[in-house]
Amino acid sequence: MNRLQMTEKLKEKLSTKRFEHSIGVEYTAGTMAFMYGIDYEKALIAGLLHDCAKYVPNDKKIAKCKKRKIPISECEYKNPELLHAKLSAVYAKEKYGVSDQDILSAIACHTTGKPAMTTLEKIIYIADYIEPNRSVLPEMDIIRKEAYTNLDKCMLHILYNSMQYLCKKGSVLDPVTKETYEYYKQIID
Ligand code: FE
Ligand code: FE
Repeated sequence: MNRLQMTEKLKEKLSTKRFEHSIGVEYTAGTMAFMYGIDYEKALIAGLLHDCAKYVPNDKKIAKCKKRKIPISECEYKNPELLHAKLSAVYAKEKYGVSDQDILSAIACHTTGKPAMTTLEKIIYIADYIEPNRSVLPEMDIIRKEAYTNLDKCMLHILYNSMQYLCKKGSVLDPVTKETYEYYKQIID
């Protein structure tokens, strides 16, 4: 399947708003790939498909991950929505014919991040946050500039702000996010 065919298929699976977001992540990731000299075709595909399983109902998210023996953490059981990242990687492979492991892993960790991410993984995580259709979050102007100047600093900034936001909202924080934050804090300090 080429990227145009993927785009057409994806459009059927997402809401208009989510589809627009995916296109935004696709092209933002593409420009970041230019900036950091990595394969932009991989960045475009990972960006396009990162949320492709977003609308699988939550109970099915758990069932489908179980069926494929994907480990589910306690936090993910409580908040199956978090599983959309791992499941989107599975769908990218099974339904969109993506076999590239770099792309699949970037999709799989786009919600929580993880320690020691590859450049592509960081780009997708960041592009998801800064793409132009996103509602403007605090310090977005600074974060958008950091995205093109210092990936690790940008990671830390997004992780910090997301943790603050989740905390204020009283939402649960995935331990992997905390772990990722600690990792990038150490790198930056
Ligand atoms: Fe997502
Ligand atoms: Fe997203």
